[in-house]
Amino acid sequence: MDRQIGRGGEASMDDIGIGGIGISMDTEDASASGAVSAGGDALSLALAERDAGALFVVNHSGGKDSQAMMIHVLEHVPASQVLVVHATLGESEWPGALEHAREQAEAAGAPFLVAQAGKTFLGMVEKRRADRPEVPSWPSASTRQCTSDLKRGPVTREVRRYASARGIDRIVNCMGMRAAESSARARKRPWAEHAAHGVAGRSWHDWLPIHALSTAEVLATVHAAGQALHPAYALGNERLSCVFCLFGSAGDLRNGALHNPELYARYVEMERRTGYTLHMSRKALPEITGVPG
Ligand code: SF4
Repeated sequence: MDRQIGRGGEASMDDIGIGGIGISMDTEDASASGAVSAGGDALSLALAERDAGALFVVNHSGGKDSQAMMIHVLEHVPASQVLVVHATLGESEWPGALEHAREQAEAAGAPFLVAQAGKTFLGMVEKRRADRPEVPSWPSASTRQCTSDLKRGPVTREVRRYASARGIDRIVNCMGMRAAESSARARKRPWAEHAAHGVAGRSWHDWLPIHALSTAEVLATVHAAGQALHPAYALGNERLSCVFCLFGSAGDLRNGALHNPELYARYVEMERRTGYTLHMSRKALPEITGVPG
């Protein structure tokens, strides 16, 4: 069995290690098909879509990369062609993340949508434990139901609904992934047609507007725009999304535990109940954070 509590060894990680804990970014798999283009071509292709009247969907987690990405998109695309979408993880995401994303949308004068799944992160873990107790109950790098079921699926559904209601037949789906975050993200294409999402005569392209930016450049972009970051960054967080992420750094998980004690207790209890760990390092949360459950 894999990722059982108490079992040693390191998980197979494709990505970088920080503070002894493997961390991989939330790679919102932009698996795509069709024509792709890299580097500077992505912007010209995006501009051609803009001129053809496409809707630019800004996926906004409330985090710094989403902010910088949205700032870059708005440098080239009028707010009238932008839709900001926040895929909420409900109880599992940092408090205030949704509101932070909504504030950015309101300040830009762009419409804002919340995409939410009909299930929760912990509910998904509990169901997997009940259905298949012989396999790890938590999502992993290879079985990312948290991303596919709780983020990508609901966003795709809401965007299709929004576009259908307005007769929009061109979508550019903008995401804040950066090459500097991980090797997996470095391999992402900054521009790709996503034929599977482009149903009903609608075209769908994925665009990573800040794929080439460093973390320092992201922070400088947000600062130059006069915007504030979500308060979790002031606590020392490197990333913002789920409070407890299977790829999270030790520091982020510890911040999460210290500032969200009730949620932390539920995650720790769920680890004990399932007998498996959330984190890809196969270490139980209290071992990583130093905070008893
Ligand atoms: S736990 Fe949350 S932040 Fe981490 S990969 Fe899953 S959905 Fe993304």
